Amino acid sequence: MELWLIIVIVVVFLLLVGIIIWLLKRGSKTQPQEYECPKCGALLLGLQDKCPKCGHSFLEEKHICPHCKKPVAKDASICDDCGTEFRF
Ligand SMILES: [Zn+2]
Ligand SMILES: [Zn+2]
Repeated sequence: MELWLIIVIVVVFLLLVGIIIWLLKRGSKTQPQEYECPKCGALLLGLQDKCPKCGHSFLEEKHICPHCKKPVAKDASICDDCGTEFRF
């Protein structure tokens, strides 16, 4: 009587832990920043120099930080990523 109850509790507990791990993994998968290509609307993942679909270069609209090589806004005077100040 008690043994099957313990087994049921353990099974339910393991199922719950599995669901929580699955939800956490699924949540972290959506972390990479998604953005649309301004030219063709293709969905892009992460930082890319140009659109793999239409070849539109994003470097035209953004400067590259000389310190960390990340793209920064054209009118920015300080890098969002590393804090380096610059003048173009
Ligand atoms: Zn594109
Ligand atoms: Zn930088």
